[in-house]
Amino acid sequence: MMPHLVPRRPVWWLFCWRAACVQGASVRQRTWAGPSRIPGPGGLRGVWGTGPLVRQGSSSASSRAPEVTLTPERYPVRRLPFSVVSEDDLAALEHIVPGRVITDPEELEAPNVDWLRTVRGSSKVLLRPRTTQEVAHILRYCHERNLAVNPQGGNTGMVGGSTPVFDEIIVSTALMNQVLSFHDVSGVLVCQAGCVLEALSQYVEERGFVMPLDLGAKGSCHIGGNVATNAGGLRFLRYGSLRGTVLGLEVVPTCVPGRGCPSARLTPPCPARVSAAWCPSSVDSRTEAAGRFCHLGVPCRPRSHPMLWALRERITEALSHDGYVYKYDLSLPLDRLYDLVGDLRARLGPSAKRVVGYGHLGDGNLHLNVTAETFSASLLGTLEPYVYEWTAGQRGSVSAEHGLGFKKKDVLGYSKPPEALQLMRQLKALLDPKGILNPYKTLPTHA
Ligand SMILES: Cc1cc2nc3c(=O)[nH]c(=O)nc-3n(C[C@H](O)[C@H](O)[C@H](O)COP(=O)(O)OP(=O)(O)OC[C@H]3O[C@@H](n4cnc5c(N)ncnc54)[C@H](O)[C@@H]3O)c2cc1C
Repeated sequence: MMPHLVPRRPVWWLFCWRAACVQGASVRQRTWAGPSRIPGPGGLRGVWGTGPLVRQGSSSASSRAPEVTLTPERYPVRRLPFSVVSEDDLAALEHIVPGRVITDPEELEAPNVDWLRTVRGSSKVLLRPRTTQEVAHILRYCHERNLAVNPQGGNTGMVGGSTPVFDEIIVSTALMNQVLSFHDVSGVLVCQAGCVLEALSQYVEERGFVMPLDLGAKGSCHIGGNVATNAGGLRFLRYGSLRGTVLGLEVVPTCVPGRGCPSARLTPPCPARVSAAWCPSSVDSRTEAAGRFCHLGVPCRPRSHPMLWALRERITEALSHDGYVYKYDLSLPLDRLYDLVGDLRARLGPSAKRVVGYGHLGDGNLHLNVTAETFSASLLGTLEPYVYEWTAGQRGSVSAEHGLGFKKKDVLGYSKPPEALQLMRQLKALLDPKGILNPYKTLPTHA
């Protein structure tokens, strides 16, 4: 007989991450006698000196940057009947995370806006837990009070998943930034969800290992956000999907080590290699690049060409200076990977400032970016659903590595059958019966 599972409390939160790091044959092994914990934000600079990404409009620049339109004013979305945070709630939350309940409107400005500056929520409360226990208490309280919450890591996501849509409480992992253990033979790293990827990279490289994940947002993104979005990135071709190197997750409140945590395979130590960026200027160079990278691989030390990689990693940021970026992250058959770029250039003509395609050849992932001075509903109408129909026509995927978040949830049907969507809904309802956990995201509005 099948057991009838009745969740007593919400079970959904990445807290503690366990993963296999890869021993880098060419990375110098150093003796280490420092502290056993990675310092908090600001304590460590990036390995390659990139540091945290500066978002347009963040901090002091915010007064000069154009205001981002509130999400419900741009997108057709209605607030669900969650409770509104009251003074009593604030007092209760203050009891759970003393001194770490943020209500200052100025401090809340940046976490309410996504990195691309395309969506804006109106949350009035941000919480900064330090421990799993605090996260568990917060979620239990919010579940009881029917308050919606929005987990936030480095807030570098591309699909509006990390920012509230309305007034959800933002639960930031910024202070959950401790390495809990590292095994220098197996390469198993255990850390909190809020560790910044670049700090982790530096930490393991000092011990002769390589993180199996690297991406342009590394100076800001958190490992919890990486795992939540199953980020792909620049080492995908060499080390495969991030999920393949995640050994376990502690999920609040019921998933504890040794009792049903998901686990995955260990990555065996092997010589370090990296995948490469691909920005062809012509069909010939494209074919040549494909041959070189796909069949031969690029054996080189991780980060042996830092300037080249720095250029690659800044493409996203550079494009955002054009104004508004219509961003697509598609999986396509390799032999059609770049066709949509030329097609769209012809279709859009001067109505777009730039149509650019780049990305990750190794996993058939095209980052298609169309830029314009400002958001235009008519340009959007020319792009969508055309881009999604074109992708579906190739049996591709409308989301390769950035996830669905808020902005892509309603196009999931182009890549998944109704049965799969229904199953996803059932799983979500099982883990989050009141739907308070990051509502308005991932699942389509209509089945
Ligand atoms: C310059 C740049 C380059 C990028 N390059 C790549 C790339 O090469 N490959 C790629 O895949 N992506 C890339 N991205 C996007 C990528 O998804 C994010 O950078 C990163 O993985 C998200 O991490 P984050 O900590 O910023 O998460 P956030 O943006 O804060 O959150 C992302 C999602 O995860 C959820 N989340 C965050 N933390 C937790 C948690 N602890 N528990 C549960 N849910 C959580 C959030 O609610 C949200 O839905 C890039 C982004 C930028 C800005």
